[in-house]
Parts: sequence; structure tokens; C-alpha cells
Amino acid sequence: MKIVVLGAGIGGLSVACRLSSLGHNVVVVEKNNSPGGKASVVKFNGYTFDAGPSLFTYPEWLDDVFVFCNKNPRDYYTYKKLNLVTRYFFNDKSYFDVFDDVNKTAKSIEAVSNFPSSKFLKLINHWQLVYQLSEETFLSGKIKFNPPFLKASMKWFLKSGFYSIFTSMAIYNKKVINNNKVELLFNRFATYTGSSPYKTPAFMNQLSVVELCKGAYYPDNGIYSIPKSLEKLAVDMGVDIRYNNQVRAISKENDSWLIKTSKSHFSADIVVSNIDYCFTRKLMGEQFNLPTSKLSTSGIVFYWGVSKTFKDLKLHNVFFSDDYQKEFSQIIDDVIFPDKPTVYVNVSSKIDSHHAKNNCENWFVMVNVPSSLELTSKKSVTKLRDAVINLLSVKLNESIKELIECERILTPNTLSDDTGAYKGSIYGVNQNSLFKIMNRKDNKDKFDKGLYYVGGTVHPGGGIPLALLSSKNTVNQIIKDY
Ligand SMILES: Cc1cc2nc3c(=O)[nH]c(=O)nc-3n(C[C@H](O)[C@H](O)[C@H](O)COP(=O)(O)OP(=O)(O)OC[C@H]3O[C@@H](n4cnc5c(N)ncnc54)[C@H](O)[C@@H]3O)c2cc1C
Repeated sequence: MKIVVLGAGIGGLSVACRLSSLGHNVVVVEKNNSPGGKASVVKFNGYTFDAGPSLFTYPEWLDDVFVFCNKNPRDYYTYKKLNLVTRYFFNDKSYFDVFDDVNKTAKSIEAVSNFPSSKFLKLINHWQLVYQLSEETFLSGKIKFNPPFLKASMKWFLKSGFYSIFTSMAIYNKKVINNNKVELLFNRFATYTGSSPYKTPAFMNQLSVVELCKGAYYPDNGIYSIPKSLEKLAVDMGVDIRYNNQVRAISKENDSWLIKTSKSHFSADIVVSNIDYCFTRKLMGEQFNLPTSKLSTSGIVFYWGVSKTFKDLKLHNVFFSDDYQKEFSQIIDDVIFPDKPTVYVNVSSKIDSHHAKNNCENWFVMVNVPSSLELTSKKSVTKLRDAVINLLSVKLNESIKELIECERILTPNTLSDDTGAYKGSIYGVNQNSLFKIMNRKDNKDKFDKGLYYVGGTVHPGGGIPLALLSSKNTVNQIIKDY
């Protein structure tokens, strides 16, 4: 079969490798001149930053792509497990750490929040059981309302509980946890799907299991080594990657697909789109307009070269805002930039010292904002930047402004231009209701034979691990169909 994959993001490259290893003739067309999409790299003034993702979980799902292709993943990329995963900073300047050992984490949390470690372990044990059932029922493969799926869903439903399905995460956590710091920790996990803890159903607390129980990893040389290793695998598997080819239109003539790009034309028996689902539909000539309220959040990222090292900062750091509820009400309901944002700071030079100059650090500083191309202006970004600098200066007891020696900024607009993220949304449609969670776009098009979707904007969800899993699901579907 001749297969054209649109986009060389992590989902696109992994699906291309898998399909090529099955003997298909695979071409990848990508508008940029390098792989990775959202997971690309930014380099300037002696600093290196991973452009988007920084938290790497489930390395086994990445390994699986190489194993599927009969290759040893260790010949392509290596990684280490983090002992200290994330440091969470609170208003009163206290912080606790999440470790690779859940018992140690429970003790660290108890020491700072007075939340009994036994209660924490009981809670996480419950979500672990729910998560396990979810992984088996919803993540691997297609959501099909047939008897085996309904039986598995019933089992999941009984474990998760009625209350957690029809109550928001934040309300549930207030009732069950009732400890401000621990509630903030759990509520934060809603944002890993670009959703709001005040809207998404409480069973999404199960996402906490990924960081709190399964741990986090760091690929040597940073996240960009993931798309680079997939690119190398693709070349070894005989995939033809065409960079600098922007797809302009996707159409079907009889049984053959036609892809028009900025440079060329490609025909195919099967098309797999790794381009954001909404953009793919536009490229097919559909009038497509999804409002911001349906989309996952976007982000503003400040890439800062900082001329000092901070021993209190770790690889992953979260600084909570004064008023988390107000922050999300501004992002989701008012559709404006938050005036007091929660700030995530990633410092990869803590591990890869060559990512920053001597005695300096590379700060990737991210805040959540609505997915909209109308909010970004010099004034709005400067206001947000001031709020971020103010928060970090107070929390770190240091005037941060003077330490920023160079800067680049990612906005919803640049994310949309650079990677095709629809209105800058990171994960496509949000998961702010049960309906949206259950109706995430399938990997196979409902109407057009030979059209498939892969990546973080379709089933089973956003983020590197799920984009990798979607490549497995998509290939299984293609094997079944052909
Ligand atoms: C700021 C930020 C922070 C994130 N943090 C994390 C994190 O910590 N952990 C995590 O797991 N995930 C995180 N993510 C999400 C993660 O980056 C993605 O879910 C993941 O990279 C999967 O991407 P994908 O396969 O959907 O492809 P994408 O990265 O979306 O790639 C799509 C590809 O299609 C190409 N393309 C688009 N339009 C066209 C066109 N017309 N013609 C040709 N090519 C086109 C793009 O250039 C791109 O290469 C983050 C993302 C961002 C932006």
C-alpha cells in the first residue's frame, strides 16, 4: 500500500515507522524543516530549550515503537528515571516534593501540609485501581459501544463511583481531601489534558497516577531526542520524509487520495493525518470553526536564559497562584489571560548542563491561557510577563527581571503558525465534560475510507505517551481494515 502521513510530529513519525515495518511504502510530508512539531527545540545565545513538552512519562510506550520495528530502542535513545519528579511551591513559600517512591512522596506531603500519609496512600491506591481499568477499557483501542466494551465500562463505573463521574474534580477533591495544598496538587493534573479542574469530571483524578506512581523520566539530551530518535528509526525503516512540504489540500479521487503540498503532489491509498484534527478537516475543504470554549488550553512560554543558578529549583517546578479557582474562571469562562497565573518552570540544564552557559540556567516558564488567536498583544503578554516575574521573584527571594539575559516567547499564535495547533490549543478538544471525553475523535474517519488520524488531538488523548499509543491504535485499525 502507498501511505502518506501528514506531519512529522511524534504521532506521525511513530505511525510511519510502524507502517513501514509492515512493508508499506510510506511517505511523510512535513511543513517544517525538522521533526517534532510541538516537541521541537529552540536554541539561542548559548541556551537550548525543549520547545513544548518537558515531562516525559511512559518510556515503555516509546520503546514499543522500536520493538515493533524489530530494533533495540537503546540504539536510538537513552533515558533515566527521576528520583525527584516535581517540586510544588505554595503561597506561604512552603513546598513539597513528588518522588519516584509514593511512600516518600506521602511523607513529604504530610510534613508540609499535615495531610496524613496513610490517607494520601489510600487515595492514590483508589485512583490506581481506576486508572488500571481505564487503561484497559478506554485507552487501548477504539471506544465501541459493543457488549465487551459496555461490560468493561460497567466494571470501571463501579470502581470509579457515581459521584466521581458527575462531580467536578475540584468539588470532589474539596470534599474528599479537604486540604488546600493537597487539593491543589490533585487539581493540577486536569491541566495535563488542557482542561479545568473546576469542569472536568472527578474521575480524571486518575491522571495523578502517572506522575505520582509511575514516575517521570528524562531522555538524555532532552525531549527533542525523542522525535530525533523516531526520525532516525523512520530513515532506517525506509520511510521517505519530505520536509518543507506544507499540505495545502487533501482530496479523494475515486479510491485514491491526493495531497497537494507547497512543493509537490502525492497520491496514496491511505492517508494518516498527524496534523491537528481541526486543521485536517479544514484542509479537506470543510468550513470548520470550533469555539475556544470547546478547546483545550494553550500556553504562553517564556524561554529565558538566566544568569544565575538556583539550588531550590529542580527539573520540574510548579508555583501555584493565590487563587486557582479565579485563574481557571478567567481562562475558561472569561476567556482572558489570568492576572495571577500558576507558573511552571522547567530547568533542563539541571540535568543537561550544556543546555545553559556556565553558572546560568535555561528556564522554560509556562502559564496556561485560553486557546484564542485574538488575545495576544504586546500589552497583554507584557502584563502576564510582569505577573510571572513578580510571583517568581517573591517565591525565590530574588529580583528575577535583572537576571533574564535573553528571551524568546511562544504564544498561541506562534504555536498555531509553527505546528498547526488549532487556535493554539495544545491538546485539541478539551475534556471538560464526560461527553467530550467519550467523544474524542476516533483514529479512523467515520465516513472517508482510507483516512486515519494520529497524535495528541485525537483518541486516546494529548501528550507524548498518548500520541505514541494512538500510533499503535491507528496501525491496529489499518491492519484490521486492510
Ligand atoms: C507548551 C507545550 C507543553 C507541553 N507539555 C507536555 C508535557 O510536559 N508532556 C507531554 O507528554 N506532552 C506535552 N505537550 C504535548 C505534546 O507536545 C504533544 O501532545 C505531542 O508532542 C504529540 O504531538 P502530535 O503527534 O499530536 O504532533 P504535533 O507535535 O502536533 O505535530 C504535528 C506536525 O504536523 C505538522 N503540520 C501541521 N500542519 C501541517 C501542514 N499543513 N502540512 C504539513 N505539516 C503540517 C507540524 O509542523 C508538526 O510537525 C506539550 C505541548 C506544548 C505545546
